[in-house]
Amino acid sequence: MNAPAVTIFAARRILTLNPARPDATHVAVRDGRILGAGTLDDLAAWGPHRIDTRFADRVLMPGLVEAHCHLSAGSFWHHAYCGWFEATDPDGRVWPGVRSLDEVVAALQRAAAARPGDGPVIGWGFDPIYFGAQRCSRADLDRVSPSRPVGLLHASGHIFNVNTAGLQRSGFARVGIDHPGFPLGADGWPTGELKGPEAMMPALAALGLDRSALSQDEWGVRAFGRLAVRAGVTTATDLMASLTDADVAALQRLTGEPDYPVRLVPLLRLIGMTPAQAVARCVELRPQGNERLRMGRLKVVADGSIQGFTARLLPPGYFNGAPNGLWYTPPETMRETFVRAFRDGVGVHTHTNGDEATQLVLDCVEQALREAPAADHRLTLQHAQLVNAAQFRRIKALGVGVNLFANHHYYWGDQHRAITVGPERAERMNACATALREGVPMAIHSDAPVTPLGPLFTAWCAVNRLTASGRVLGQAERIGVPEALRAITLGAAYCLGLDHEIGSIECGKRADFCVLDEDPLAVAPEALKDVPIWGTVLGGRVFEAPRPAP
Ligand SMILES: [Zn+2]
Repeated sequence: MNAPAVTIFAARRILTLNPARPDATHVAVRDGRILGAGTLDDLAAWGPHRIDTRFADRVLMPGLVEAHCHLSAGSFWHHAYCGWFEATDPDGRVWPGVRSLDEVVAALQRAAAARPGDGPVIGWGFDPIYFGAQRCSRADLDRVSPSRPVGLLHASGHIFNVNTAGLQRSGFARVGIDHPGFPLGADGWPTGELKGPEAMMPALAALGLDRSALSQDEWGVRAFGRLAVRAGVTTATDLMASLTDADVAALQRLTGEPDYPVRLVPLLRLIGMTPAQAVARCVELRPQGNERLRMGRLKVVADGSIQGFTARLLPPGYFNGAPNGLWYTPPETMRETFVRAFRDGVGVHTHTNGDEATQLVLDCVEQALREAPAADHRLTLQHAQLVNAAQFRRIKALGVGVNLFANHHYYWGDQHRAITVGPERAERMNACATALREGVPMAIHSDAPVTPLGPLFTAWCAVNRLTASGRVLGQAERIGVPEALRAITLGAAYCLGLDHEIGSIECGKRADFCVLDEDPLAVAPEALKDVPIWGTVLGGRVFEAPRPAP
């Protein structure tokens, strides 16, 4: 006799995020889809079933959705972790924070020794805002190796430091480069700090860190899957993908394996192609996915990062007087991209960190909508960290959504208050309460590997707005736990255009669950980040989180 096609999972509590039926004790699943959530009585009539009780003492909620992260959150664990805060790798091992330039050099020296030869030595997560006025130069990295190229990617992902051999490999070892992305030393040579895509991309490629290399890095894509299960994530983006034919083939193969544990949503980056080519490529990619690979969306980047002083700010600019940041994409390119995307129904996600960048993008959206009217276009501002109340009202009027970078409160909140934007603007950064009050569709994110993948932690940040030093930064912008849980499920699903399929536990949706050991609505809001995650269920298939060997 065949096993029954219906599985009914029993749980201590099921938070469905479906307002019409918010609480349940059982959920019935057939062929990877939810038949219904309710009591056993409600569900038994779906026919012959088997009852799975392994979650009987646990709490289920919809599989968490991370609408802004990168596959490199897995791949980077090939390389030396050089971040200020401790971090946990895909297998659950905790790596200590790296607290001085000498410790950075030592971490890179260990990485070089672990991989002898003449290949590049790479570090990531570097966060010089914690080192005061001291900048990293190529001379510092020459201490790692005078002959091997050495690269050090900043936590923001918007600055890359190289040593002298790295400059040589990238073709930048010369005097007289006149470009804002290349700070020069007294000798007229680049200091080795490369800012923004024009300076970074050739060096990233020369040192083996181009995005294509990442998508095709099987170890990294699998490591990313383990990170996702540990974080309760069942759908995650790769928000800056190159999506060449070879990348797509690699992703199709890996996500086609029945036990690949996360649904990937890679967004094509608008780099190295015209708006017409990029939108056409998205249309072409749309049907090439599978249940666990969703393509056909586009990413555009307007400016840099606030803590790297490369974001574009409206007056009065940076609190410490740093010069305004960098524009990454010309406005005419952005406008044309939006027009073409609206016409072809391609979802566009636009990175804006500074409020001047947000303003420019909103101007471009407004003009594009006049040329190509589009209902329900789901254009999403990614980060949108400094959006003010007037901009939120404009965002609402234009049908735009936001994915706010709540993790910043913890990781850089103290620095934003003291150095980058000052107390007032720091208190309204990532203004979740204002966004919700103005009726703006909202998600929140980690931008992993910029900060660790972990939507429950991100929700904790939006709820508590605590900085690393323990300060509440912006009492008025805190949101409640239910609102935060919605942002990391339905809110994120909405901005990806997938809210009809995922983001809540209800009849007809994918059977994607996050399995918790405690009830996030029953713990104190300050304890939300500590709710233990057992694992996930993706399309009805159970994945237990990997745990480190004792
Ligand atoms: Zn990002």
